[in-house]
Amino acid sequence: MTRTLRTPQELVDAGLIAPAAASALEAVAARYSIAVTPAMAALIREAGAPIAAQYLPEPEELITAPHELEDPTADAPFTPIKGVVHRYPDRALLKPLLACPVYCRFCFRREAVGPDGGLLSEAELEAALDWFAETPAVREVILTGGDPLMLSPRRLGRILARLAAIPHIETLRIHSRVPVADPGRITPGMLAALTLDRPLYLCVHANHAAEFTPEAAAGLRGLHAAGLVLLGQSVLLRGVNDSEAALEALFRAMLRHRVKPYYLHQLDPAPGTARFHVPVEEGLALLRALRGRVTGLAWPSYVQEQPAGAGKMPLGMAGMRGGAGQAREAV
Ligand SMILES: *Cc1c(COP(=O)(O)O)cnc(C)c1O
Ligand code: SF4
Repeated sequence: MTRTLRTPQELVDAGLIAPAAASALEAVAARYSIAVTPAMAALIREAGAPIAAQYLPEPEELITAPHELEDPTADAPFTPIKGVVHRYPDRALLKPLLACPVYCRFCFRREAVGPDGGLLSEAELEAALDWFAETPAVREVILTGGDPLMLSPRRLGRILARLAAIPHIETLRIHSRVPVADPGRITPGMLAALTLDRPLYLCVHANHAAEFTPEAAAGLRGLHAAGLVLLGQSVLLRGVNDSEAALEALFRAMLRHRVKPYYLHQLDPAPGTARFHVPVEEGLALLRALRGRVTGLAWPSYVQEQPAGAGKMPLGMAGMRGGAGQAREAV
């Protein structure tokens, strides 16, 4: 198989969902994009449920639970210009496109992402780059989307070079699922585009140890050799990584591939994602069980997006400091 699967029928034809399920999923597909790369289709066959749950649509995605929100990120009030989100003084997001290699069923931006939306026009991109040049308080640009590594190396390289030439931009960061979900995109051309004079942090989104396939490992080795600093971000997900063993395996797999776990996100309440919800108390108990036993390098910050755009908040650390008795409350 060489093509990304994008419809319920294609998922049936690939043997990933039952033929009887297809018709009920057409309505889901009409609302939320579907994409399963060849690499992830192969991994679903090999590793089963924890990968399948992340990418295969389910009928209950059309049910919005009472606590779920259309726009859990509440980015709109923090958008000074199209494609930019400036919520914190020293850093801002640049979203050059809204396409992704895969469409994760739990995505907090699921109402916005998709294969044919959100590519900034040349003029919009120029205006966004000008905004960064004219905003000296911003020292860090975080490219996200969508997935910036879906851009051609040429276009991405041009954006990075323009940003790196702004004197007050000290660091650049890219958030991406490509290294695990579509590792074939990490080509020599992509590595060349990512080789910069400025520190470039790549925050790799991965939720399960099995995602670190030999192909992903090769890409990550190349990215590290190109001078990028690799960080990991994960979402705590029911049925994917909601056990002590799964989280330990995930964080250890990251470290073996030179990826430092950075954030473990509490699931944002996007519509139709209730099946993935793990209560915060359970997440805290899972992390507490790892503390002390597993190297501190494996330790991410467990964070939750606050309502109404109030930003990320580290979740209660009380009792998680290795039993020294210095219970510290959430910062
Ligand atoms: C998450 C986020 C960032 C990055 O936050 P860090 O804590 O620096 O990783 C920046 N801007 C917005 C709007 C965000 O949601
Ligand atoms: S890759 Fe990221 S932005 Fe895209 S669907 Fe998955 S979680 Fe959402």
